[in-house]
Amino acid sequence: MNEDIQDLKNTLRKMTIRLGNPTLQYVIASEGNTSTKTSDDKKMVIKASGTTFLNPDFVVVEIKKALQLLSKEYASTEVSEKMRDMVINYKGEKPSKEVTFHAALKEYKWIVHTHAREIEGFVCSKAANDVRRRYQYIKKLEEISDGSIAWAPYANPGISLAGEVRKAYDIYIEEKGYGPEAIFLQNHGLIVGGDEPNIVEEKTGKYVSAVATLRSELSQKVPIETMKFGGLKDIDYSDKGVLSRAIIENLKEIGCENARYCDSQLLNLFVCSKRGREYILTGNITPEQIQCLGVRPTWADYSKSDKLFNNVKAALIDYRRKFDSLPKVIYIEGLGIFAIGSFDEEVGIICDMADKMVDVLMRTIPFGGPKYLTKEQEKYLAG
Ligand SMILES: [Zn+2]
Repeated sequence: MNEDIQDLKNTLRKMTIRLGNPTLQYVIASEGNTSTKTSDDKKMVIKASGTTFLNPDFVVVEIKKALQLLSKEYASTEVSEKMRDMVINYKGEKPSKEVTFHAALKEYKWIVHTHAREIEGFVCSKAANDVRRRYQYIKKLEEISDGSIAWAPYANPGISLAGEVRKAYDIYIEEKGYGPEAIFLQNHGLIVGGDEPNIVEEKTGKYVSAVATLRSELSQKVPIETMKFGGLKDIDYSDKGVLSRAIIENLKEIGCENARYCDSQLLNLFVCSKRGREYILTGNITPEQIQCLGVRPTWADYSKSDKLFNNVKAALIDYRRKFDSLPKVIYIEGLGIFAIGSFDEEVGIICDMADKMVDVLMRTIPFGGPKYLTKEQEKYLAG
């Protein structure tokens, strides 16, 4: 049977848009990707690079050409050329950079790859990085979800990740005699694959709720103060509105083209907490965090309103002297966070990602806290 590519694309589009529903918290901005393969295993429809789940574009690629990328090491210019070359009727859009793992997981006709906050809370945690505890928790998650979960150790996004993902699938099938439905990616996210689109969609939800169940069970043993980043400090600005507007004006004066105050409840709790500073300055937990927020944020300690701007300015000037650029985020203790960028869309994404990362950090706490990326991994990602 020769399926109609247009039909596959339409089904994939509808599913992708449903999975992009913000209330599900599976992806933000252009995170994640979805794909489907034709029955003859020759072609694959996959989300185009840089497009979002809510407004996705798709490209059709030749699976054979995508797999060639895994056969040997290519220089980055060659990779970019091959990404273009694998697209059938190339019109300027390339496939997602994760096209290689979609191609390598040949057993899955439909694939959904998301960066769900709930899943990241587990895969970015210390427990998930500890062999014994990971084994125990994954077993439990398989029971709760009535599913099958393979584990892929951290790898740089793109070709290296495809190698680890393939290996994870093969190890699982060798041990159990059947393939996994899901692959959890350390410090990254979730892959769910299967024969039918409605099943992979439904199972994505099932794995997310299994982690939520386990997390809430473990949370009961964690003191509430610990859950809230060590508890709240007794600090507050009574004039947050006035202060944040003044800071934005001043940020523009020192060369920040566009700045936005992000004042979600979670971010406010974070900047008023005892351990927020330590959590955010220790490092990063996912590649997207680095891509969106940069490797190093800045933190300005609490100070009296009249001294605040001078302190913020000093922190930024010091940052610029050290790193020759401005940070994408500044956390101001007791006040909130400011996104720094060039365009409205960019600062909007920075605010959303900062909020997401604080949420993920919080979700790691019942699993023993965050497992940060290593300095070498950060260096690679910072490019
Ligand atoms: Zn990803």
